[in-house]
Amino acid sequence: MNNKILILTSVIFFLSCTNEENNMNPFLQEYDTPFKIPPFEDIKMQHYKPAFELGMEENLLEINKITSNQEKPSFENTIVELERVGKTLDKVSNVFFNLLSSNTNEDMDDLAMTISPRLSAHGDNILLNKELFERIKSVYSKRASLSLSVEQNRLLEETYKSFIRSGANLSDNKMNRLTEINQSLSSLSVQFDQNVLKETNGFSLIIDNEEQLSGLPEEEIRLASELAKSEGHEGKWVFKPTRVSMYPFLTYSDQRDLREKLYDSYIKRGDNSNESDNKNIIKEMVALRTEKAKLMGFENHADFVLDNTMAKTTERVDGLLQKIWKPGLARAKREVEEMQKLIQEEGGNFKLASSDWWYYSEKIRQSKYNFTEEEVKPYFSEENVLAGAFDVAEKLFEVSFIERKDLPKYRDDIRSFEVKDADEKTIGIFYTDYTLRPSKGGGAWMNSVRSQSTFDGNQLPIVFNVCNFPPKNKEGVSLLSFEQVETLFHEFGHGLHGLLSQATYPSLSGTRVTRDYVEFPSQMMENWAREPEVIKTFAKHYKTGEAIPDELLNKIAAAGKFNAGFETTEYVAAALLDMAWHTNETEIQDVNDFEDTSLEELGLIPEIESRYRSTYFGHIFAGGYSSGYYSYLWTEVMEADAFEPFREKGLFHKETADKLKKFVYSSGNTDDLMTQYVRYRGSEPNIEPLIKKRGLD
Ligand SMILES: [Zn+2]
Repeated sequence: MNNKILILTSVIFFLSCTNEENNMNPFLQEYDTPFKIPPFEDIKMQHYKPAFELGMEENLLEINKITSNQEKPSFENTIVELERVGKTLDKVSNVFFNLLSSNTNEDMDDLAMTISPRLSAHGDNILLNKELFERIKSVYSKRASLSLSVEQNRLLEETYKSFIRSGANLSDNKMNRLTEINQSLSSLSVQFDQNVLKETNGFSLIIDNEEQLSGLPEEEIRLASELAKSEGHEGKWVFKPTRVSMYPFLTYSDQRDLREKLYDSYIKRGDNSNESDNKNIIKEMVALRTEKAKLMGFENHADFVLDNTMAKTTERVDGLLQKIWKPGLARAKREVEEMQKLIQEEGGNFKLASSDWWYYSEKIRQSKYNFTEEEVKPYFSEENVLAGAFDVAEKLFEVSFIERKDLPKYRDDIRSFEVKDADEKTIGIFYTDYTLRPSKGGGAWMNSVRSQSTFDGNQLPIVFNVCNFPPKNKEGVSLLSFEQVETLFHEFGHGLHGLLSQATYPSLSGTRVTRDYVEFPSQMMENWAREPEVIKTFAKHYKTGEAIPDELLNKIAAAGKFNAGFETTEYVAAALLDMAWHTNETEIQDVNDFEDTSLEELGLIPEIESRYRSTYFGHIFAGGYSSGYYSYLWTEVMEADAFEPFREKGLFHKETADKLKKFVYSSGNTDDLMTQYVRYRGSEPNIEPLIKKRGLD
């Protein structure tokens, strides 16, 4: 009781002494903008911290109101009420973390470091609240007699499970330890991420001799010269250890020593025994995760994590990965032989190294398929590809995207769209933030700044797609590689999953599904990007408007299976490395030894590195993918299987598309996910279409 009074007093004090500033703080008012989009232009650095603090206090008061309710616990006054609370905190967190990953600066990084452990403690405070848990348990125990709808029942079960998994049933001692562990893990992961970004930005391959640019396409040289300018090396050329800068260099540069130097800087990130080294962070995180799993009654972190997924057990995950590891590795060994033969033919007297892979595989690809990325790129302007993605969504799901130049933005170079359904009703807002810049993390992702829901008034989803596409060329056009075309469709698939959502409650809405399901709607969308019939509709030369020639298109389609051994092997190696870290129960002495031994045991060949080495494996040490990197393959099994009916009946077959919309893109987490899949497909997913798709059969 005392605690509650204390919190209440401090909030009143806080409100009265800073009232004026709070009146200016956008997070503390109703957003007075179209569609109640956050007023990005008005949000300043000084608004975040007070909004986080006030948001947390407000949230605790709301929880106290639920627990002190004199009425008996009911679905409405407890479970639904929990969906309603924490609005201020949601508003500030959604904007802050969206911008932290896409448009950060030192102040934001600093605030993230201090606020993350506090948010984590705050979350635990609620999840470990005994009075609250007692109420939830009481509703849960009488669920059979409540005549709940399917979605309501799902909400109740998911709420109950999240409290159990957070340790609500633990003794006080164990609960305290759990809180400490969660806070440490949260800070360590932020630190890990910042170290990787520092290491990535911290290395530049500077070239000052034009001869050393031999082999590189003109466009890459120009980008490198601009990069040099922005880093204060005017007149020189700079390449960075990012995928977007490094891959073209590894693919085309004739300078073997420089390729090796750049690649080494990439794979050594976080492993340079300097202040940004991640090895000790990994050791600490792995030990803490094991301790946490044991507290929760599991053998190891992987068992604990997988208990809450579609896959359920480590055996099932390992089984899936092994099924594809063997044919993938066998194919990769044949690819090595082919490249080694080429090296010999060219008079080279060396063994293919991992940093050589892109260069020689590109030569083989050219000799077999006779086209280069540079030939393809002019047909894939970012603008046209996005229009193509919109067109696919329109044909499949009867939605349209209308550009709105008047909506709030945090940068001038991002774009915003109003999304409408067939009845011209607005169903959501979609933003694209596509251009590479140093303030953005690597990779590509989707973010919801607001989730869809209907239980408390109609909340429109606000969805961001963030990518790292090349800057505009001198004609003002950003040209994409075919891989980037797939990325755009992929993120757009996540976007649709958020935008088409038709859930009642926000916590069951859109992409808030298990990790081994969430990549299914995104990877599914890539299928259309690979169909020649669809590509033709948007692949127009950015200068002449001429459609992509059939011959080139056929080569792209044929090249889809090229290098499949490498791609399968580097991915599955990383997925198995993730599982190795998190099924391990003994103390780690040396991070690199552990990694090397794990990969050697699998039989990984020296010509291929794991797609991520541990010290920059952000998915598992900074993102939410620990014991979950396998999910991309798991969902690919589903996606290949789910696309079969479109292959058989037509790419935009109406009845199939309707079912896909209803049971996949709109249904969020409102029912058991395997049940939804079976409703769409008629049976559980089958692995054969994937093996066939990769050409590994
Ligand atoms: Zn994804």
